[in-house]
Amino acid sequence: MNSSWIDPTPLTDAALATETPESDSLDQEKKKLAREQRENLKLEKRLCRQVGQAIVDYNMIEEGDRVMVCLSGGKDSYGMLDILLKLQARAPINFEIIAVNLDQKQPGFPDHILPEYLTKLGVKFHIETQDTYSIVKRVIPEGKTLCSLCSRLRRGILYRVADEIGATKIALGHHRDDILHTFFLNLFFAGKLKAMPPKLVSSDGNHVVIRPLANVAEKDLIRWAEIKEFPIIPCSLCGSQENLQRKQVSNMLSEWEKKWPGRRENMFTAMQNVVPSHLLDSAQFDFKAVCATGKEEPEGDIGFDTPELPVLKPASNVIQIV
Ligand code: SF4
Repeated sequence: MNSSWIDPTPLTDAALATETPESDSLDQEKKKLAREQRENLKLEKRLCRQVGQAIVDYNMIEEGDRVMVCLSGGKDSYGMLDILLKLQARAPINFEIIAVNLDQKQPGFPDHILPEYLTKLGVKFHIETQDTYSIVKRVIPEGKTLCSLCSRLRRGILYRVADEIGATKIALGHHRDDILHTFFLNLFFAGKLKAMPPKLVSSDGNHVVIRPLANVAEKDLIRWAEIKEFPIIPCSLCGSQENLQRKQVSNMLSEWEKKWPGRRENMFTAMQNVVPSHLLDSAQFDFKAVCATGKEEPEGDIGFDTPELPVLKPASNVIQIV
C-alpha cells in the first residue's frame, strides 16, 4: 500500500477537533449507536437470565400452566410480559400467557392504550372493568392513603378473573427493589424479618401467585421500558400519595447504594442465605434442643466470632457497619 495514503504524523487534539468534522462526528455517532446496541443486548440477556433463573429456582411455571400476567400499564408489568413472552418462545415446556388488566375507572384512565398494545402484540388478553375507584373514594376519608383498600379490592377481583379464565398461575410485576423495600418496612415498622415471597398460595388456598421479576433490579426495568418505548400509563391517576414510609425506605436504599455500590445486591443475596440458628426465632430453630453432641460441629464456635466480612468493592476498602 502507498504509505502516502497514511498520514504518519499523529493527530493532535487540535487536529482531532478540526479534522473533517462531518465524517468524524458521523463515526462517533456510529460508535455510540453500536455501543448502545451492545448495552441493550446485554440488558435483554440479563433480564431473560434473571427471570429464567427465578422461574427455575422457585418452580414458578410448569408444563401446561396458564399464566395470568397482571398488567397495570406501568413499566414493571410491561417488562414482565415482554420477558415472559421471550422466554415462552424458547422454554423447554409449553405454557400459555393471558394478559389481564383491571380498569379501576380512575379518572382519565386511557382505556384504549392496553387493548391496542396487546392486539398489536398478538397476545391473548382480558380487560376487567370494575369501578373500585368510587368505592375507595367513598370509604376512605379525604387525605388518607387509598392503597390498602384499593389493593385488597383489586386482589379479590383478580382472583375471581383467574378462576374465570382458568389461570393456574397469577404473575405479578414486583421486582427486587420492591422486595427489599418490603423487607425494610417490615423490619422498621412491623418488627418482622419478612419480605415479599417469589411464590405464594393465596389465603383462600386456591391460587398460586408468582413474581417472575423477583431477581430483577428496578433500574433495569426503567431502562428496558425506555428502550422498548412501552406506552406507560401514569400510576398517579388515582391521586393517592405514595406511602411516606415506603418513600423513606426507598430514599435510604438509594443513598446507601450511592455511597456503597453493590449494597442492594448484597442485601438481596442475604435474603437467600438465611441462618435461623443465628437469629432468635424459636419457631425457626429449636434452641431448646441444643446440647453438646460430642461430635465436631463445623459451624459451632463461629457463633462467638464477629462475622468475617468481605472487602467492599469498588467504593471503599473500609467495612461500614451501619
Ligand atoms: S396507587 Fe392508586 S391505584 Fe395504586 S393501589 Fe394505591 S390507590 Fe390503588
